[in-house]
Amino acid sequence: MNVNVIGGGPGGLYASLLLKKSNPDWDITLYERDPADNTYGWGIVFSDSTLSALREADYRTHQQITDRFIEWDPIDVHYDGEYIRCGGHRFAGMMRADLKDILRDRCDEVGVEMHFETDVDDPNALAAESELLVGADGARSITRETFSERFKPRITEGNAKFAWFGTAKPFDVFTFIFRENEDGLWRIHAYPGRKSTFIVECTEETWRNAGLDEKSEDDGLAYLEDLFADHLNGYDLESKLYGWRNFPIVKNRTWHHDDENVVLLGDAAHTAHFSIGSGTKMAMEDAIALYEGFEEHPEDEKAAIRWYEKERRPAVEALQKASRHSRRYFETVERYTNLEPQQFVFNMLTRSGRITYDELGIRDREYVDEFDRWYARRTNGTEAERAVATPPMHQPLSLRDVTVPNRAAFSPTPSSDATDGVPSERQLRRLSDLGSEGVGLVMTEPVSVSSIGRITPGTPGLYGEEHGDAWASAVEQTRKASDRTTLGIELVHAGQRGATKPRAYGLDRPLPDDDAWDLLSASATPYTSSSQIPKAMDADDMKRVRERFAYAVQLADQAGFDLLQLHFGHGYLLSSFLSPRTNERDDEYGGSLENRLRYPLDVFDAVRAVWPDEKPVSVKLPATDWAPDGYDLTDAFAAGARLEEHGCDLLTVVAGQTTANDRPKFDPDVLGNYCEQIRNEVNVPAMSTNYLTTSDDVNTQVGGATADLCQWYPEHVDVNSL
Ligand SMILES: Cc1cc2nc3c(=O)[nH]c(=O)nc-3n(C[C@H](O)[C@H](O)[C@H](O)COP(=O)(O)OP(=O)(O)OC[C@H]3O[C@@H](n4cnc5c(N)ncnc54)[C@H](O)[C@@H]3O)c2cc1C
Repeated sequence: MNVNVIGGGPGGLYASLLLKKSNPDWDITLYERDPADNTYGWGIVFSDSTLSALREADYRTHQQITDRFIEWDPIDVHYDGEYIRCGGHRFAGMMRADLKDILRDRCDEVGVEMHFETDVDDPNALAAESELLVGADGARSITRETFSERFKPRITEGNAKFAWFGTAKPFDVFTFIFRENEDGLWRIHAYPGRKSTFIVECTEETWRNAGLDEKSEDDGLAYLEDLFADHLNGYDLESKLYGWRNFPIVKNRTWHHDDENVVLLGDAAHTAHFSIGSGTKMAMEDAIALYEGFEEHPEDEKAAIRWYEKERRPAVEALQKASRHSRRYFETVERYTNLEPQQFVFNMLTRSGRITYDELGIRDREYVDEFDRWYARRTNGTEAERAVATPPMHQPLSLRDVTVPNRAAFSPTPSSDATDGVPSERQLRRLSDLGSEGVGLVMTEPVSVSSIGRITPGTPGLYGEEHGDAWASAVEQTRKASDRTTLGIELVHAGQRGATKPRAYGLDRPLPDDDAWDLLSASATPYTSSSQIPKAMDADDMKRVRERFAYAVQLADQAGFDLLQLHFGHGYLLSSFLSPRTNERDDEYGGSLENRLRYPLDVFDAVRAVWPDEKPVSVKLPATDWAPDGYDLTDAFAAGARLEEHGCDLLTVVAGQTTANDRPKFDPDVLGNYCEQIRNEVNVPAMSTNYLTTSDDVNTQVGGATADLCQWYPEHVDVNSL
């Protein structure tokens, strides 16, 4: 078989070697535009020092590679004048040039024909004369571009600027340095090697402030050497191809083109941010899967390349997800500079979602014990001297004068068996049953502030004395079940999503006309095409609804609730003002975010005025509409900040459902990620809502400042069937 490979990086070399080794009669030719001994970059890190797949694939190169390894396991973080070490991470590193030398020599040995200083400018022509063409030509792949109709690439760029340097200054472990000067915050990723690698990363603004867009190479290096003089100890920074880049994010709809027998491999197919140290290993594992595809399907190239992609995609996508989180973290580190060093570091270590609190404990018990002691000291001033302090999940949270004894919260989904707003026995019993589970906060399901604010006829309410009495008895029962659990009530006005059938009949199915009531919303647009057209609220409606909220809040206080939550999301009444998709008003309540927030904030102020000062108010705030031209995360940051100014104590972060035709992201971590971004951008306590099931999840989120409270759904409690 005649195989041509474009690109002599780790991916192209390793694929050529493995294909040739297992098929000695194949003609394998590799083209590389650079000279054989030329390589950009410095050291590379492998986050798994065993590289067992490489050992299986080619023992000889595995041995040579691992012989060159410098291994270490701690990560050091220098931040805000403090230095924190966390061990147990098992890294191995080597020079990129050494790796390429090993692979190139072995390719030579097995008989791969290699042409250096040969730039392929017409992959189409090469494909025509190949039985298999491998595009291993890196992030700016010409192969991918040539067959873009087929591969359907999506290429974007990260926001940060980075440059890759070397230095003779020995770094003995992975070292992250965060340093602020008058130009901005700088991040350094430095690691050991025959020569140490020193990657400098910063925002575009910082880069321009420092004049690096205009400085010559010498001046640029001098600036950095001066800034990091205390870490470089007089050693120079060295550069190859001095230049600042934005990280290219490469994804393709597919990596194989079975009409032409072309495959993409390594960075040409997918990139992973350098902060997770996986790009080289991913390229080499692609090469392994490609050769295994031909082992599986020796007589059928098309089946072999299909097998390759099927085999690799899940692992690559998982790493790309971790890479996305890690890249976003480094691009927005400024957001986390309010955190104290201990939490800053914990947040950094858990940033990609691959390492949790328990995992850190396995890697470095001492680090986690010290973190727990610090966390306990910070939250309640105790346990600092003990060998083992209670983990973050079990530390109390103070919101005004209310102390939530631990960080787990139960929040059941809406049910539908109230009568005229009077909660059923079952709805009331839910609170005491959940309270006896020992969580810190038990929330009610959404409770309507008026009869026309109900979601379904069976939605419980709080708009009359009879409702107040019922909730008061539930609070009393719950206190009997647990004298520590705090109790919160969530108030809602369903607005455009009211007058629907119970959930069991499907979401947003309107009631028959005879049973329905008239709906209110920001604008006269129905929620779904079959929903009732609501009335666009006028000034009288706004006043009435505001008063309804205030009255419900008085009743909630009398009933004995500790915390109040207002629902600003999921397409209900206040959400209909917030989202530009449902707010079409041209008065002072529509248009800009400031205007769209006006009415929800009026309601908030009215509520805050009657709810006792010593008790906290939370807002269930949407992070995004998940819809084009909708409210997005930037709006959520602004809305959160305004709420904080108005005295909001907690943001409970939700997403979507603000319009019926949203496009939700089905990712178990997405709500946690939104929560983390909003919490740290706005700097206000937050509750996450992403269905955590284990104490490890809660400890990771609370320890890492993703959330201060977490809605919790442990497997043994079926919250919604209670
Ligand atoms: C700053 C930085 C730090 C990194 N650190 C790490 C790390 O610690 N660990 C890690 O695993 N990964 C790291 N990576 C990622 C890693 O470098 C890449 O993922 C890896 O090199 C991908 O290998 P590849 O063979 O797919 O592509 P490349 O290594 O990019 O090789 C592609 C080759 O194709 C050649 N080429 C391109 N076009 C043509 C053409 N038309 N004709 C002929 N030849 C062509 C190029 O010259 C190049 O040699 C880092 C990347 C960066 C930018």
